[in-house]
Amino acid sequence: MEKNIVVIKGDGIGPEIVTEAVKVMRKVAAVYGHAFRFEEVAAGGCAIDQFGQCLPQESLDKCLAADSVLLGAVGGPKWDGVDKNNRPEKALLRIRSAMGLYANLRPAKIFPQLSSASPLKKEIVDAGIDFVMARELIGGIYFGEHKTVEVGGEEQATDIMAYSTHEIERIARVAFETARKRGKKVVSVEKSNVLDCSRLWKKVVAAVAAQYPDVAYSTMLVDNCAMQIVKNPAQFDVIVTENMFGDILSDEASMITGSIGMIPSSSLGDGTNGMYEPIHGSAPDIAGQNIANPVGTILSGAMMLKYSFDMAAESDAIERAVSQVLDEGYRTTDIFSAGMKLVSCSEMGDLVAARIR
Ligand code: NAD
Repeated sequence: MEKNIVVIKGDGIGPEIVTEAVKVMRKVAAVYGHAFRFEEVAAGGCAIDQFGQCLPQESLDKCLAADSVLLGAVGGPKWDGVDKNNRPEKALLRIRSAMGLYANLRPAKIFPQLSSASPLKKEIVDAGIDFVMARELIGGIYFGEHKTVEVGGEEQATDIMAYSTHEIERIARVAFETARKRGKKVVSVEKSNVLDCSRLWKKVVAAVAAQYPDVAYSTMLVDNCAMQIVKNPAQFDVIVTENMFGDILSDEASMITGSIGMIPSSSLGDGTNGMYEPIHGSAPDIAGQNIANPVGTILSGAMMLKYSFDMAAESDAIERAVSQVLDEGYRTTDIFSAGMKLVSCSEMGDLVAARIR
């Protein structure tokens, strides 16, 4: 198969980790007889430096035309002072919105080899951590009106959270379809005791749930969910929630698996193209040192093969290679423990690529 993949390396550790993911995907293409064409486009802080805007039109056009998009991460303190509409993160919001990527799927799964890296007690980890967060991605408060005005001699800021029925319905459907292929359990997370958006959310998700009688459905308030994720993560299979709650809960979910550097994500819409990225940010504190963990980005490439290109065997090959490298004791700094073999970002990429069969 021939595929055109747009690559956004971005800022901070972005270029380092994306280079390793591309290395692994090139190896997959060679082993399985595919032609992947990678085209790099600028977005984020580096695009502000080069073109004065976080997302040049040409970059967006190329994303829209691509078979899929692979992203590292954008942002960093260097661009903290830029106009709020031109911040590096705005580039991602615009790409997600323009591509109609309303569903963000983030697996929270513990690699057995890294179970000691989880901050949770051993008995909680041993009960199992393997769930998926289905986060609504292009609605809610991040996309509502933001304004700051003077009121009575002081500043007052407002951010509007809005959801329509169709926006909730489509992410709910993704969650139930995902659950059907997994443990057949969906928990819908909201704050219906306070927010109108959440009351609508609850009503719409319940209506979708009725169409999936084979999937167990329950609801949970977001504050309780934050607690349950650390208390008893084994209870979850698929969590479906709105944009901001999902943003926060998915970082919590990633942390309990041991390292933020290990977790991939996919952002999907109704088409087959999508955007794939690790869940972490640009990690400016370790950028340029070749010590970042590229596995989250490498596994994002695996998700792209599975979800956008329908290449399940190739995707499994990447996951198996990562698991083998961990079995052999190789670790980047963030997941290192005594007795293991410390490797750099690029060495980790080499090791995974070499094990693609
Ligand atoms: P971060 O995820 O970049 O870093 C948090 C901590 O995790 C840091 O100590 C970092 O060194 C570590 N870390 C992250 N990824 C790692 C990896 N692959 N290997 C090893 N360690 C890793 O979060 P932050 O510091 O809050 O944000 C930094 C910048 O990234 C900010 O400008 C933020 O806006 C941006 N950001 C971008 C995205 C994105 O591009 N999707 C997402 C989140 C944050």
